[in-house]
Amino acid sequence: MKIELKVKLFLLKKIYLIYDDFVSSLAVACKKYCSRCFTNNVIMTSLEGYFIAESIVKKEHSDVFERVKAEVSKQRFLPRTTINKIAELCINGEDLPQEDHTHAESVCPLLTDDACAIYNVRPFGCRCLMSKHDCRQQGYAYVDAFVLSVNHLFLQFIEHVDANGFSGNLSDMLTFMASEENRCSYKTDTLKNSDTHLLWNLPIKVLMIPPEHRVRIQPILNALHNINGPVSKMNCSF
Ligand code: SF4
Ligand code: SF4
Repeated sequence: MKIELKVKLFLLKKIYLIYDDFVSSLAVACKKYCSRCFTNNVIMTSLEGYFIAESIVKKEHSDVFERVKAEVSKQRFLPRTTINKIAELCINGEDLPQEDHTHAESVCPLLTDDACAIYNVRPFGCRCLMSKHDCRQQGYAYVDAFVLSVNHLFLQFIEHVDANGFSGNLSDMLTFMASEENRCSYKTDTLKNSDTHLLWNLPIKVLMIPPEHRVRIQPILNALHNINGPVSKMNCSF
């Protein structure tokens, strides 16, 4: 399925709005200037990377690109598979690749004085961190099981919309998108991924929603299906 870039960006913004609507009904401890979860391990798609990179270029914040480029020499989470690949492996009863979580963790390169330099265009991986208690006091986040299912659903849709692109660590993705040539290739759908840390995306084959959440999640799924555009034509099942 090939989707024009302007349609993909339209869909991405709509998907974010639907998620904002969902989040507005949640009781969470997350608030402005709470930044303990802002690490260098955020994962994003190339569509989100393009959206952020264009915003950085428009605002002439080239220092942001320098900060992410400096990060790629450090230890960080480098995923071995995407969420739609995980769903595909699960449905086929195949083993999942072991992810390496043994790396050191440092703060996100886009964090300045406890605030995000790209807050309005931040990727879904940052938007979906929703803890029921304050991580600064407890030392870890507590995310409700239903919220996790909803997060997986949105991650699957975003990867689906960007099925001709790829996913990877924020620093690798923005370093890739800092190049005008790469952004142009993405825009014209002639992308070649020479970065071994970026993984090709896949369309949705099956949704990863546990049986106990399928009724409750249906209105959100309907809202995603009802976005005008190619997403509404998707045939995806549980
Ligand atoms: S997930 Fe935790 S650290 Fe992040 S904003 Fe929410 S409460 Fe704060
Ligand atoms: S991109 Fe922004 S919102 Fe996301 S972790 Fe970094 S500073 Fe936080």
